[in-house]
Amino acid sequence: MDLKHIDDGTVLKIFTYPSQVLKRVATPVENFDEELKELARNMLKTMYEAPGIGLAAPQVGISKRIFVMDIDFNRKEKTGIDAKIEYELVDRNPKILINPVIKKKKGQFKYEEGCLSLPGIYEEVARAQKITVEYQDLGGDKHELQAEDLLAVCIQHESDHLDGVVFIERLSMLKKNLFHKKLIKRKKLYEQA
Ligand SMILES: [Zn+2]
Repeated sequence: MDLKHIDDGTVLKIFTYPSQVLKRVATPVENFDEELKELARNMLKTMYEAPGIGLAAPQVGISKRIFVMDIDFNRKEKTGIDAKIEYELVDRNPKILINPVIKKKKGQFKYEEGCLSLPGIYEEVARAQKITVEYQDLGGDKHELQAEDLLAVCIQHESDHLDGVVFIERLSMLKKNLFHKKLIKRKKLYEQA
């Protein structure tokens, strides 16, 4: 997708855990039409604005099997109007995966993951180090991609979203319990405020 087009996109609302839409198994994309292109563009815009390295459709409230990612971009500081610090995105390399299926998994790789739907939570998750994924592009054409390390982690994390799974569910029982305690505490604080 043309990067200029992405900049014209709309920033969508990001749904946070425990929204119901994050728990649903998303349905396959069947129509490779203008509406789908619009969704992909808006998702990329939303991801870069956040900023994040991946975003799946359920995170913007749409239960369809599509996600976007970019593990290559950087934020460059620049001085804007009134000497205000602004950021400019450089080295962008957007990817859009539709109806992805992970065919092969090899090895193990641990990475401290975060998620735009779980702001402020970072935990180390063990996933496959090398994967092969089959997916369709915006035109419906099929592709195969081999990925490793961070790219493989990102694809596995986003694919999980399409199956109604958030990364904290990949943690050990002990860590999961600690997380839930943290979440309840935070909720109580909000209710008091
Ligand atoms: Zn996520």
